[in-house]
Amino acid sequence: MLEINGHTKQLAIIGYPVEHSFSPKMHNFISEKMGNPYVYTALEVHPDNIAAAIAGIRALGFSGINVTAPHKYTVMQYLDEIAPQAQKLGSVNTIVNRNNRLIGYNTDADGLYRSMLHNNMTVDGKDILILGAGGAAKPISVFFAQLSPSSMTVVNRTAAKAETLAAYVRSTTGYPIETQQQRRHYDIVINATSVGMYPNTEACPMDDLSFIDAQTAAVDLIYNPAETVFLRRARENGAKTMNGLGMLVYQGIISYELFTDTKLPDNIGDMIIEEVFGA
Ligand code: NAP
Repeated sequence: MLEINGHTKQLAIIGYPVEHSFSPKMHNFISEKMGNPYVYTALEVHPDNIAAAIAGIRALGFSGINVTAPHKYTVMQYLDEIAPQAQKLGSVNTIVNRNNRLIGYNTDADGLYRSMLHNNMTVDGKDILILGAGGAAKPISVFFAQLSPSSMTVVNRTAAKAETLAAYVRSTTGYPIETQQQRRHYDIVINATSVGMYPNTEACPMDDLSFIDAQTAAVDLIYNPAETVFLRRARENGAKTMNGLGMLVYQGIISYELFTDTKLPDNIGDMIIEEVFGA
């Protein structure tokens, strides 16, 4: 058990709501394993209070803060510096307090990518299809556009949102992202919609998944349930599959490394997945 005393440093996640966040469990697990003097809590911050909350980070000397919905964009205006990648991705999920200078980062897409690498899925030279154009699809598309995929297509129920996202990706990265599903095969198909997430576990973002086969890697950002209908059908078509738990875990690991300015051991992700999530 981590000893909490006058030397203990503070970390937290802010969101609205935030009580269901897994981040306190993950970060406190890491601190305990590594013997680091940090404690991590969840703080509910109403959108009207976001400026005061950020001022509070400084006043109370928090070492770092994770940011979740609905604050990932609004916090940016209150920070001293935004890391170039977070600036490009257009949102911040990690704020590091370095000598009372608040620096914003975004570890979401990097977390997904590290989790994919861990499962031997690479982006370079691949044809990628992203389903969804919401808050998660945006940083992933911008991040992956910088990793030289052969092609990348984003499709969405509300086509206009896919167009807006594509315009953003083109303007920030210069990458010619497409918005029509025209290929017969994609190497990687990512479900970045909320379709299939608990409690609507019978839903699937697409009726026709016949284009997914044994040469496809199917990724779902959802981790509850562990296997969505999308992933189950992709697996039945022979695809390699991966759910969103690794993304959740690795974005947290990258945040923790930024908060503490340390490098965690390579097996920490597997340890968290096994010991914190029992997966
Ligand atoms: P969001 O901003 O609310 O976007 C939701 C997306 O899902 C939109 O593209 C929306 O399309 C689409 N959608 C919703 N209901 C639909 C339906 N019935 N049919 C077709 N499309 C539908 O949410 P988000 O933040 O991007 O999150 C998306 C998913 O990723 C969620 O399940 C979230 O839990 C998961 N996620 C996981 C992690 C992780 O660490 N593993 C991190 C972030 C997000 P419209 O534009 O047409 O509404």
